[in-house]
Amino acid sequence: MINRNIPLNHPRLRSLLVRDKLVSGFERGLVVAHGLIAHGRGEAFDYLLGEQTTRTAGIAITAASAELLLARHPVISINGNVAAICAKEIVELSKVTNALLEVNLFHRDEKRERYIERELIKNGAGKVYGVGSRASARISELHSERRRVDPDGIYLADVVIVPLEDGDRAEALVKMGKKIIAIDLNPLSRTARVAQITIVDNIIRVMPNMVSIARELRSLDDEATLTKIIKEFNNKKNLEQSLRIIQGAKNGLR
Ligand code: ATP
Ligand code: MG
Repeated sequence: MINRNIPLNHPRLRSLLVRDKLVSGFERGLVVAHGLIAHGRGEAFDYLLGEQTTRTAGIAITAASAELLLARHPVISINGNVAAICAKEIVELSKVTNALLEVNLFHRDEKRERYIERELIKNGAGKVYGVGSRASARISELHSERRRVDPDGIYLADVVIVPLEDGDRAEALVKMGKKIIAIDLNPLSRTARVAQITIVDNIIRVMPNMVSIARELRSLDDEATLTKIIKEFNNKKNLEQSLRIIQGAKNGLR
């Protein structure tokens, strides 16, 4: 049930509205119960980050946009939470950066894949990769159903953006030689640490921001500037900076 009684001046309004989107996604078969728990872990970090896009996250968003624009075969990996929270913005980002959209679930289930595909198409997507028998290639480092990917999508990709990804799979993709862009509120997660670019921010804020930055960078039409942005980005330093912000949150008690 969606809670329509949240007062508009509630201090946690935005966070509560995102929860509503997830609950609605759960009821519509896009999200699994585990996804709700994973969101809770993210929320805890978001609270400590002040529920805003930090300057550090902004730098990572710019580097990620440049990476996507320079990629030969970029792919955006979509799971249930992403489809429930920001389908429209994800589709927009795929259009601005010419990235493919691939459904890639931790808890694989063809019915859910179809629901997610439908949600993306409803929000303007053309082709959606990775659904059902289309995911016929294998990531050799992984066991179980989680290793299946689309031979025309992630399997061929040079750059993959993995919002809210599990550490094992992110690591396996890096081993396959892919550049990984992660969106993860936890700067200590394995995903955050193995990715080449980690955006430590809530995906709900990242997406609209990234669409407008990518659009701006694309309009420059200047490969040298994009290459420079990527060269100057240091993921380890960026993660340390996010961690410092989280550690500084205790000052709020003074
Ligand atoms: P890992 O397996 O990489 O060590 P984990 O086990 O913490 O990390 P999972 O529980 O598999 O990761 O996935 C959830 C991750 O997604 C968490 O790290 C959480 O911080 C992050 N997350 C959840 N919701 C959001 C969100 N809305 N925006 C950004 N990140 C989020
Ligand atoms: Mg995990």
